[in-house]
Amino acid sequence: MADHLYTFEPVGVLHSPYREKFGIPRQPGLVDAAEARLQLLPPYNREEAVRGLEGFSHVWLIFGFHATAEQGWRPTVRPPRLGGNARVGVFASRSTFRPNPLGLSVVRLAGIDCSDGVSLTLAGVDLLDQTPIFDIKPYLPYADALPSAQGGFAPENPDTAVSVSFSPQAERQLSRLEAERPRLRQLVCELLAYDPRPAYRSDTDASRDYGVKLYDLDVRWRMLGDVAEVTALVL
Ligand code: SAH
Repeated sequence: MADHLYTFEPVGVLHSPYREKFGIPRQPGLVDAAEARLQLLPPYNREEAVRGLEGFSHVWLIFGFHATAEQGWRPTVRPPRLGGNARVGVFASRSTFRPNPLGLSVVRLAGIDCSDGVSLTLAGVDLLDQTPIFDIKPYLPYADALPSAQGGFAPENPDTAVSVSFSPQAERQLSRLEAERPRLRQLVCELLAYDPRPAYRSDTDASRDYGVKLYDLDVRWRMLGDVAEVTALVL
């Protein structure tokens, strides 16, 4: 049977700040402060397998949507970009519910560490923690960057209509946490600026509290008009 022709094993596992699907940006590159470590697995975790990669600023990742794979695929989806109302075909979208649950992201290669196996530091990821990585390829600007390309129903970056502030309590918690996580403030600000709340919500949601899991933290915030006020960062 054709569906048994290909069996892929991951070449690595991604350790990402995103511990749940909620809040993850919809594409890579939007939140540069989302730094992840891609740990290569044996027998691929050898220096020679990444030789020459240090000359590239970005890499493509082909990965498994492991958290949603069991839910199968849907022929059409409602992209958040269209307000969650209009439907487009799965092959016209970056939906996670695909016939083969494979994702594709281009991310910034911030470092390569071969001191203990091989791990890559990647910035701007849109991947969940523990995502299995099936392949890594260098980003080739001459072939992969297409300045005249058309972006369909998503022609531009999503809006960042929201500004972010921190309550005095959150500010105190953040300054303690920043010793260990120097880019945490930037991560929270960039993430909330994209307003991760669901595309359709009722006005009665206005006063409620939201939470997103980053690393081992629960980041709590509420919306005050167009301002996301972070109220707490709790362990
Ligand atoms: N850039 C990729 C992913 C786009 S969809 C592509 O185009 O194929 C991005 C969404 O994938 C994120 O918002 C997150 O909710 C989801 N996601 C990321 N990693 C995942 C995983 N391992 N399993 C299931 N969903 C995941």
